[in-house]
Amino acid sequence: MLRDTTINMKRTKVKEVLQTEPSGQEVLVKGWVRTKRGNKYVTFIAVNDGSTINNIQVVADMTVFSEESLKEVTTGASVSVVGTLVQSQGKGQTVEIQARTVEVLGTADPETYPLQKKGHSLEFLREIAHLRPRTNTFGAVLRVRHAMAFAVHQYFNQKGFFYIHTPIITASDAEGAGEMFRVTTLDPVNPPKTETGEVDFSEDFFGKSTNLTVSGQLEGEVTAMALSEIYTFGPTFRAENSNTSRHLAEFWMIEPEMAFYELEDNMELAEDFLKYLVRYALDNCMDDLQFLNDMYDKELLPRLNFVVENDFQRLTYTEAIEVLKTAKQKFEYKVDWGTDLQSEHERYLVEKHFKKPVILTNYPKDIKSFYMKLNEDGKTVRAMDVLFPGIGEIIGGSQREESYEKLVTRMREMGVPEKEMWWFLDTRRFGTVPHSGFGLGFERLLLFVTGMGNIRDVIPFPRFPKSAEF
Ligand code: ATP
Ligand code: MN
Repeated sequence: MLRDTTINMKRTKVKEVLQTEPSGQEVLVKGWVRTKRGNKYVTFIAVNDGSTINNIQVVADMTVFSEESLKEVTTGASVSVVGTLVQSQGKGQTVEIQARTVEVLGTADPETYPLQKKGHSLEFLREIAHLRPRTNTFGAVLRVRHAMAFAVHQYFNQKGFFYIHTPIITASDAEGAGEMFRVTTLDPVNPPKTETGEVDFSEDFFGKSTNLTVSGQLEGEVTAMALSEIYTFGPTFRAENSNTSRHLAEFWMIEPEMAFYELEDNMELAEDFLKYLVRYALDNCMDDLQFLNDMYDKELLPRLNFVVENDFQRLTYTEAIEVLKTAKQKFEYKVDWGTDLQSEHERYLVEKHFKKPVILTNYPKDIKSFYMKLNEDGKTVRAMDVLFPGIGEIIGGSQREESYEKLVTRMREMGVPEKEMWWFLDTRRFGTVPHSGFGLGFERLLLFVTGMGNIRDVIPFPRFPKSAEF
């Protein structure tokens, strides 16, 4: 109820109230109590409604209010407050509300409310994911998450890219990006079988075996062959059992795909895009970022500013291997030309050697996907990974193989089922053009922008092995 009909007033959000010049006007504020303190004469109630990290201080004159009437005003309770907006006497805030009425909408028993005290560990908060949005930390993370999603759309819209909704249920498991989650309506106990004893997916809902998508890229390529510049931004699913601080089983990915772009253009877009997003956060989320900086990571703001102001280091995979081989640091995994880089290698390049974001290109074809464009050397493909401090890979992309013959050859070499991919191959048969694209993991971006250390703390309801409670 935005308008309180009994007093005929409209609710004002705390963010707006805090920016209002007080001139004796009455305001109606609704939110959740963060703290209550005071003495015989006065009670201070800090109210937060999530519109900003900052609370509004409500002051109750105890010559007017009885102890009894404020008994249920406890941490976590929801309240509706009417009062006069005045210049604050205390420090830490500019305005406060001199309360006329304080109504408790919903109580929160101090004996059982889990967020009674401040300073819970992030691990503990993960176990109460349904309540953690009420903490300063998760309020900040969720507001930044919103701002970044908005900025993604704004960036592409300004550039004339079209937002394409690619399917979440797919039949192609050819992308090879990881283990997939099955989608089926067959009876798990007694599924229909073929004569040879295998599960008969022709009886399944879609008449074939289907999965949750690991990427919207293939469908993105198809639409870019008509609309030139497109992007997808949706959930992706990987059933890989990687219990790391950088992997989720369900995460959001942004995947632009551009006709007529070569690898250079792709790198330029990726760098410009990332800088735009970080700059947007600095320009629009300063209260939240300042809090995260002060609370968790004093280097956060300097790091964000650094990324915006400096060019990314570009080098080839082959050059990177040379750097790693001559590095003084001991690595757990050995590096040799042809092996995939581990996170420790990526982070060494970014954090120790170049001390800035890195774009690595031209990886060996055997460690990359079938659709990447083969270089003249016949050994490397036009891949590009963007590596960020504290994270490692934040973007993976490439120029795509536009030649029908070369693509089919790569598919055969890598055992990708050509027959099922007939629709994808059609793009190379009819009006094929050079094109490129990449995937930015939205939560990896948020790890960087918020400075949080664990990817489970930058999504409201994380999905990871053995965890889907909330
Ligand atoms: P990694 O090597 O880090 O596991 P990947 O090479 O498997 O990643 P891609 O298939 O290239 O990832 O996906 C594109 C982007 O999606 C990655 O650069 C990363 O930002 C993000 N990403 C990939 N897997 C996950 C995951 N399980 N959870 C969150 N983000 C992910
Ligand atoms: Mn990758």
